[in-house]
Amino acid sequence: MIIHLKSGADEQLIAELSQEINAFRLISFGKDTLVCSSVIKEIPDRYTSIIDSWVAFPNDMQLANIDYTNSKREIDLGFGKIGGNTSNTAVIMGPCAVESMEQITQSAELIKSLGLSVLRAGSFKPRTSPYSFQGLGHKGLEHLDIIRHEYGLKIITEVKDASHVDDIIAFADIIQIGAKAMYDNAILKKCSKTDKPVLIKRGFGTKLQEFVQAAEYILSGGNENVILCERGIRTFETKTRFSLDLCGAAYLKEYTNLPIVLDPSHALGFAYGVPDLARASMAMGVDGLLIEVHPNPAHAKSDAAQQLDHDTFKDLFESLKKIAGALNRNII
Ligand code: PEP
Ligand code: MN
Repeated sequence: MIIHLKSGADEQLIAELSQEINAFRLISFGKDTLVCSSVIKEIPDRYTSIIDSWVAFPNDMQLANIDYTNSKREIDLGFGKIGGNTSNTAVIMGPCAVESMEQITQSAELIKSLGLSVLRAGSFKPRTSPYSFQGLGHKGLEHLDIIRHEYGLKIITEVKDASHVDDIIAFADIIQIGAKAMYDNAILKKCSKTDKPVLIKRGFGTKLQEFVQAAEYILSGGNENVILCERGIRTFETKTRFSLDLCGAAYLKEYTNLPIVLDPSHALGFAYGVPDLARASMAMGVDGLLIEVHPNPAHAKSDAAQQLDHDTFKDLFESLKKIAGALNRNII
């Protein structure tokens, strides 16, 4: 249930109600708000004097529910807005990982040359094997900071675990929570206490309801700037790395108020089909694309098979512009 409180409502009664229904208190769309489990369907009469309005939901998809807002949330990415009534699609690209100053400089040059504004690159990499490249850690953030200032780009970079979550929150312009980290309550709760945009990637065994509930962790703590990223789920298929769940994306578009980003790179896991999937994703009219691009994919230290080289991305970008144009969407 989401409850909007009257302004100037009695604090003692608010505290008692919060405790009784185990609620979070937050500012939601400028309103003093309580949110609690969807199991609660009514409020005792003695609280009537403090309540402006309330709405009950069939399940815990509440603050993210389109029925709450009746429109999409608009999120300011620092270089432009997505969601709301914007018709903008953010094209977010860059390598899987920061590997060196030289590599990330080449990425920044490409982004600038295409008129784009944001660089993706992980510095704390959530690898499945302990023997794989784990990222440059804080050194990588230093590299990214130099790029941010020299090229005037915004940086999206991922948090892998609670050991560096504060550093990423302080550093990133857009915080990425990876597919494996999205179940980490400590990360989600910390990210609820900033107002920076947070892009959550769907775990590869995560149901849509669970995915949205991860977003609810962040929203209920007061951060209204949450973006959902579908990046492929595990199915019976083994020829592709994962399966890009476009049906899931359609569901999220229809039933949630959060901007949706599609990541074709991690879904397919191989560069050959990423341009086609990126075009299909753009054709869905989503709020963003996240695409891995590396100056020399064959030598990439992580996700080598799926990263596009610069020339392939440039060609892809030309066709994305045409699709966006046909849909009256703007690429930012
Ligand atoms: C990534 O974006 O490089 C990444 C690790 O993605 P995911 O969390 O979706 O596997
Ligand atoms: Mn990757």
